[in-house]
Amino acid sequence: MLKLLRDGAGALGLTLDDAQLAAFGRCCDLLLEKNAVMNLTAITEPAEVARLHFLDSLALLRLADFRGKRVVDVGCGAGFPGVPLLIGEPSIRLSLLDSTAKRMQWLSDELLPALGLEAECLTGRAEELIEGRRETYDLCVSRAVARLNVLCELCLPYVKVGGSFLAMKGAAAEDEAQEAGPAIRTLGGSVREMAEYSVGDAVHRVVIIDKIRPTPAKYPRRFAKIKQQPL
Ligand code: SAM
Repeated sequence: MLKLLRDGAGALGLTLDDAQLAAFGRCCDLLLEKNAVMNLTAITEPAEVARLHFLDSLALLRLADFRGKRVVDVGCGAGFPGVPLLIGEPSIRLSLLDSTAKRMQWLSDELLPALGLEAECLTGRAEELIEGRRETYDLCVSRAVARLNVLCELCLPYVKVGGSFLAMKGAAAEDEAQEAGPAIRTLGGSVREMAEYSVGDAVHRVVIIDKIRPTPAKYPRRFAKIKQQPL
């Protein structure tokens, strides 16, 4: 697993030292151990955890400069992509955000302390936690949370003008970006790039959206509204 991780990181152009590899090993053990009693991930093989959780997350480090940046991971679940990003680039000032209290409690009380990592853990819905956090992050990241037109309303309000939102998407990235065009414009964003990278045989995509104008204060709306009437 660690060899796969080191080689995979190398293929992405990243170098992981022994301490970082050890942290990923421990993270994998703790994830799979807890997964036996709590639904954290559908992936149960260490090699697959390395590929589909760790390397997939680490790939973002090549797409933006994360050094010293304030980063929020919206809908982080068991900590992806946020925790691997923090192991890979420890200078990140990370907030992990998810509406599922049990997963957030596992992250804050068990995983992060065991790895000696510090991150702010925010439990609640993204659209409800915005007060006091509007446009305070340099970068927002999110994977497997919602279609892009809905996701933008959850994420872009957190990003400072001059910052970026990196939405991790699969094969449908192009279609989703097309569909989300009006939402992105309304929320003050502009698509900079559709980045691609390989994880094993699979090609993954990231829609990189720059924040070019402030998000109007009426967004985000309540979730029912966002879902019923996406921008
Ligand atoms: N990002 C993780 C990953 O890729 O492994 C988790 C993906 S999981 C499929 C989706 C997560 O998004 C769930 O943990 C869910 O609780 C969270 N979520 C969905 N809508 C949310 C919202 N409006 N605010 C905060 N979290 C949300």
